[in-house]
Amino acid sequence: MYRKIAWNQYDQEELARAEAFAADYKRFLDGGKTERECTAEAEGMLRAAGFLRLEDVLRDGTPLKAGDKVYCAWMGKSLMAFVLGEQPLSAGMNILGAHIDSPRLDVKQNALYEEEGLAYLDTHYYGGIKKYQWVARPLALHGVIVRRDGSKVTVAIGEAEDDPVFCISDLLIHLAQDQLQKPGKEVVEGEALNLIIGSRPLEGEEKEPVRAAVLALLKEQYDLEEEDLLSAELEIVPAGKARDLGLDRSLILGYGHDDRICAYPSLRAVMDYEGVPAYTLCAILTDKEEIGSVGATGMASNYFENTAAELLMAAEGTDSALALRRTLRNSRMLSSDVSAGFDPNFAGVFEKKNAALVGRGICFNKFTGRGGKGGSNDANAEFVAEVRRIMDGAGVDFQTAELGKVDAGGGGTIAYMCAKYGMNVIDAGIAVLSMHAPYEIAAKCDLWEAYKGYLAFLREARPLA
Ligand code: MN
Ligand code: MN
Repeated sequence: MYRKIAWNQYDQEELARAEAFAADYKRFLDGGKTERECTAEAEGMLRAAGFLRLEDVLRDGTPLKAGDKVYCAWMGKSLMAFVLGEQPLSAGMNILGAHIDSPRLDVKQNALYEEEGLAYLDTHYYGGIKKYQWVARPLALHGVIVRRDGSKVTVAIGEAEDDPVFCISDLLIHLAQDQLQKPGKEVVEGEALNLIIGSRPLEGEEKEPVRAAVLALLKEQYDLEEEDLLSAELEIVPAGKARDLGLDRSLILGYGHDDRICAYPSLRAVMDYEGVPAYTLCAILTDKEEIGSVGATGMASNYFENTAAELLMAAEGTDSALALRRTLRNSRMLSSDVSAGFDPNFAGVFEKKNAALVGRGICFNKFTGRGGKGGSNDANAEFVAEVRRIMDGAGVDFQTAELGKVDAGGGGTIAYMCAKYGMNVIDAGIAVLSMHAPYEIAAKCDLWEAYKGYLAFLREARPLA
């Protein structure tokens, strides 16, 4: 099936809008390198757009009405935004969901050590990574350290022009004969991902003087004790900003497209929606997808269901369990996550007819999973037809795809967890090259088509008969 090249559809005015949207997205990427930072960025955007905190609304007891805008940030790592619709909640919501955690290296609880004049932070990787991609490159340290008294220090070191950066060393090629014979997953082993954090000794200190100097700096600059690192969440991510890629600037090279390139336009679509929607709109930015959506801030937690229950109370004054079930069951959802873009350098793992192509618009995956569709949501044909109707009606360029060749591998998303309520869910997303690498590649036109597609879905999706 021929797929339109999204760039060819734009006039000058739309090109300018797509370019401006991409610039906004790059700023979001630069400001949101962790799930916490993305949540904070999103919260700032929502507040500026007049969204109220759901907990404030509930505390004040002001009933919500159609057109009202609320949000709920969950533990600072996940976030849900809503625009109340004219129809009762039990008619279902139009939901856009995506995740804001990305593969990275986390700092271990007992991390700081010194060896032969170098101080290191020991790490434990998060999500699926090719470990050899994380060495010999500038890295930044982002996260929070919580002291015993509950006070919190937020850090982001390695992003400002004059900040220091961090690095994991790689073996010099001259001595790498044995290393280069190893299978890729063993070229750099998990326990070798040790981050250099300093090398200058503390004057007058005999035992582990470099380590002591690092601790002295932590005390001086952040008023932190070593023990405070026990209750920290420090994430090591590539240092530096997202950049335009290509002479024509048509692509974006950035850390964390997976899945912020879906999360950002999902949030913006709900934020930018004009007028009062027929059905309640919802954007979910969730955490922990890269490790199976587990944990209190992951999609497998009940936080979304709980928030929907609170919303029913705030909007309709009911705590009916049946109303909640109807609300969830009757909802429609685009569960968005990046798609494996067809890569001509690695054509062998793709089945071209069913591969997502960069630059061909928003991508729908009827199913994901591995092997015989294992673990997949597998959207209903009726719902796929509804999505086609909406995209065609709005002139949105879209394609359908699956993740590589049958039996080449696979992957999952949050779709099946929302589908457990009985709602119609389909996987949507944007084609990305080098997925899960420190820098991933995606096309600006695909980002723009996704945003247009999300707006159309929010406007047009309705309960299926
Ligand atoms: Mn993802
Ligand atoms: Mn991923």
